[in-house]
Amino acid sequence: MPVRFFNSYSRELEEFHPLDPAGKLVRLYTCGPTVYNYAHIGNFRAYVFEDLLQRHLEARGYDVLRVMNLTDVDDKTIRDSRKAGKRLNDFTQIYKDAFFADVEALRIKRAQHFPAATDYIPRMIDMIADLERKGIAYQAEDRSVYFRLSKFPDYGKLAHLNLDELRPSGRVSSDDYEKESVGDFALWKAWDEGDGDVKWDSPWGPGRPGWHIECTAMATALLGDELDIHCGGVDNMFPHHEAEIAQSECCTGKKFTRYWLHCAHLMVDGQKMAKSLGNFYTLRDLLEKGWTGREVRYALLTVNYRLPLNFTLDGLAGARAALQRIDEWVARLNDFVAKDQANGSAEKPGGAGSHVAKFFDALDDDLNISGAMGHLFDMIRGSNKRMDEGSLSREEARELLAGWSRINSVLQLDPEVSAVPAEVLALVEQRQAIRAAKDWAGSDRLRDEIAARGWIVKDTKDGPKLTPK
Ligand SMILES: [Zn+2]
Repeated sequence: MPVRFFNSYSRELEEFHPLDPAGKLVRLYTCGPTVYNYAHIGNFRAYVFEDLLQRHLEARGYDVLRVMNLTDVDDKTIRDSRKAGKRLNDFTQIYKDAFFADVEALRIKRAQHFPAATDYIPRMIDMIADLERKGIAYQAEDRSVYFRLSKFPDYGKLAHLNLDELRPSGRVSSDDYEKESVGDFALWKAWDEGDGDVKWDSPWGPGRPGWHIECTAMATALLGDELDIHCGGVDNMFPHHEAEIAQSECCTGKKFTRYWLHCAHLMVDGQKMAKSLGNFYTLRDLLEKGWTGREVRYALLTVNYRLPLNFTLDGLAGARAALQRIDEWVARLNDFVAKDQANGSAEKPGGAGSHVAKFFDALDDDLNISGAMGHLFDMIRGSNKRMDEGSLSREEARELLAGWSRINSVLQLDPEVSAVPAEVLALVEQRQAIRAAKDWAGSDRLRDEIAARGWIVKDTKDGPKLTPK
């Protein structure tokens, strides 16, 4: 079955075929964070969904070339850097660094490119000048440059808005506006006092780019005029993605993006997440409460991306329990293979293959992760039962581990690796010496001492193995 995605543009489930004639390269653009604060878990829901998308495409043999931008100049970064009394670059660097630390904690594969808007200003100016030459951009009396919506009749098609029914409201300089105030959006914002020292020279005087042209310039610079997939949260659809389409298609004359994938909202305890409601979480808020990046990843990953995700602490506890089940199963299979305790008489081929195939088939179907996880847990339940009964063969156990490894290339749910403290390592060495002398009581005593320090030592044919308790 080919990979299929729900394309927001057509509102239909479509078979996925990249533009690349060899059918191998996928050009993927994902709108990244505005680096004026720590990204919150609603942002990370989108980034984890995009990670699943990338890893699944790779599991299916595609080469994914991914770009994720960093918006380091816009209304919010300027406002908050001024409030903090910092230069724009110094201010945004703090949140760029924090973003990459969070990406690491959530095991999100890094894009090949993380362009920052401030590195692409000349290209943005060139594109705006091109639009002006074509009569699509115009400088208004406020010295800002706007996109003339009447020149792009397709505006509104992605969000399925009928602009004839909405009253155009003149010009809108803010990066964000509601559909009720549809108007010509700003491409270039003339400098004003509120911008402080943030400004670049341009043919229209000093100023800075609008948010939408930033993504258009960076996407086309790094991926070419035509993208295969463009992702973002559903709240980016209008006006941001509409504006990206309008700008790029007017500049290049080509269809900007072939498949638009948008993930639904994240709510917390059934409500919109808001600082004022006390239900606003960044990743570091959750890490401070003792949750791990792996647990948060699980909670964000395992709800189908087009469904609203209701994030709760109970849900995180559920993620913790599910992960424990997976860990115990993997450990049990490893022990089973290592300890030669397989009682299954025949070394017959197992049923792991069909579960693994079903897992990936579910993901082919518009990334149906909940269906895929269902197949994984069927596989766990079935094989645990067979081990209980003593009817699993060693060959089957090996197959199951290999199947898990393929599945985990997409899920990335290995246990957190903790550094083993030197004192624990010293105890393990001491214990090895005692065991060599066949002092089994002494060996058990040291095992308990190691356990008291939070580590379980297991003796395998390759020597002692440590796992955190
Ligand atoms: Zn964007």
